Amino acid sequence: MLTVTAASAFLPAGMALAQKTKQDAFKAIDSRADQYSDVAHRIWEFAEIGYQEVKSSELLQQTLTQAGFKVEKGVAGIPTAFVATYGSGKPVIAILGEFDALPGVSQDAVPELKSVPGRTAGHACGHHLFGTASSAAAIAVKDWLIANKKQGTIRVYGTPAEEGGSGKVYMVRDGLFSDVDVVLHWHPGSMNSASFGSSLANKSGKFRFRGIASHAAASPERGRSALDAVEAMDNMVNMMREHVPEDTRIHYVITRGGEAPNVVPAYSEVYYYVRHPDRDQVVSIWDRVIKAAEGAALGTETKMEFEVTGGVYNLLANEALSKALDANMHLVGGYKLTEEEKDFAEKIQKTFTTTPPKLETTSTIVDFGANGDKGGSTDVGDVSWVVPTAGLTTATWVPGTTAHSWQAVAAGGMTIGAKGMMMAAKTLAGTAIDLFEQPALIEQAKKEFNTRRPAGFKYDALVGNRKPALDYRK
Ligand SMILES: [Zn+2]
Repeated sequence: MLTVTAASAFLPAGMALAQKTKQDAFKAIDSRADQYSDVAHRIWEFAEIGYQEVKSSELLQQTLTQAGFKVEKGVAGIPTAFVATYGSGKPVIAILGEFDALPGVSQDAVPELKSVPGRTAGHACGHHLFGTASSAAAIAVKDWLIANKKQGTIRVYGTPAEEGGSGKVYMVRDGLFSDVDVVLHWHPGSMNSASFGSSLANKSGKFRFRGIASHAAASPERGRSALDAVEAMDNMVNMMREHVPEDTRIHYVITRGGEAPNVVPAYSEVYYYVRHPDRDQVVSIWDRVIKAAEGAALGTETKMEFEVTGGVYNLLANEALSKALDANMHLVGGYKLTEEEKDFAEKIQKTFTTTPPKLETTSTIVDFGANGDKGGSTDVGDVSWVVPTAGLTTATWVPGTTAHSWQAVAAGGMTIGAKGMMMAAKTLAGTAIDLFEQPALIEQAKKEFNTRRPAGFKYDALVGNRKPALDYRK
């Protein structure tokens, strides 16, 4: 269902008029630091998982509405997805904002392993900072547009369920980006960098087997084990690892494996990911995984069905845009840790299994280059194949922290996370201002985009025509 929320309150005109230059825009972001760290921290506490981010999405929408954006929510058939718009006409510059948490990583903002009672999920990928910084940047750009009487549109795309739910894929499939000229994004991390690279294409889904329950000791011959089928499938896929390209990644978890050893399991479920830098490889390996599932069902006399719950493209890099982000990041600069933060960071670093980098790396920016390949996957990939797209990362975590860890949740919930977030907000705002001021930069990005995409490219979502998998975390 589509509902349009009208802009309810604009910031005082004086505030907007002050932002004549990029530096003024940075100062304006700084002046609202408390508000933004409060928004991020509330989303950190909500810790809502994919497609269940009701409060998180609402808070970001509220923040943008109060700043004068018009918010359209429930887009692409996803209740927590939204598009916030200010301005009209060309160019249309969009900033992506994520806000979903990860299940199973409840953690307090302390430098030792400690879960929060009553909370099962956590922001181990820093998406609470992601959505907030993107909104903060867009608000500053809006004020800059007003102060300078510039023409154009600034948008925030509120994109749910990045972690395995492929939220952006449905938004791309629905044509929500069709009039956008450039997309900017960022991601929390443990260093400051605007280097460009790709990510892994990814297809994921759940394989469900149905067997026959029976007494595991008195009448096992009358049962057909659904768990046997999962194990047979996993075994075949594990042997298959030798016969796929080396840079393939396959992982699975058994989400249902029976309830009690004395009952032959009648139902089982295994959740698979297949990743590779090239999406055609992903599709062909995924088809082989399906064959393993079919073979397992045949051999165990069980019935199998599967559901594709996610699928994302690899990132298409854009050097022209990445260079603009890098220049702006240098303008903004890194940040220093206070004594208190250093103490926190040292304690976190002691928990690492590898030698950590120096804490001073929060104040430096990684040399620009084409070395920004990510080991993971992101649904930003799909966006990057339909609009010229680029992103950056900042140190929102203690240097050396890996994503999806309790250490990432901990730092993201305190001032280190907030400092990295502010750096990202300013860099995004500065780059968006460049795009509004320099039509040539947009043209250059588009030209590069058209040479990187193969001739005759047509977007075709890896999830096919299924509806958003709104229950994939249930
Ligand atoms: Zn993430």
